[in-house]
Amino acid sequence: MFTSSRKFVADPAASAPLLAVCRDAALGLCVRALGACAAGSVIERFEGDIGPRVSQHSLQVRPGSHIAGTRHIGYLSHACDPNCRLDMARFELVALRAIAAGELLSIDYAATEDRLYVQFACACGAPDCRRWITGRDEPISAAGARYLAAQDGAAAPV
Ligand SMILES: [Zn+2]
Repeated sequence: MFTSSRKFVADPAASAPLLAVCRDAALGLCVRALGACAAGSVIERFEGDIGPRVSQHSLQVRPGSHIAGTRHIGYLSHACDPNCRLDMARFELVALRAIAAGELLSIDYAATEDRLYVQFACACGAPDCRRWITGRDEPISAAGARYLAAQDGAAAPV
């Protein structure tokens, strides 16, 4: 009797989630597409709790403001040549290229974060992989400098 009083606008992303958080032995928590996504399409409109704190799974909305408690986007993997991007004005996850069902979704962490919760080594395989990932507005940490120097030393011809 009362069911018709609560009418929701159909939102394909909300009614049939396109994403799943998975646990990968190498990557830890990650996000995979459950269906194919066209290049340029909005994969998800996200929501969460916005506040001043940076945490492991938060994402920067604007300087001093971070979104946490999201359903999927807090678990996206980093890639230096990612297949997705976040639109922090519209709160949308957008496909940068065609994505196949089952594919791992990635963003460039430095595209949104001024400072990372923790800097880390990257071996994403992109031709222009930065190898050590920082926020877009912070220097490489001492640990990062040591890591890069050790890598360069190991790679130097003998
Ligand atoms: Zn990389």
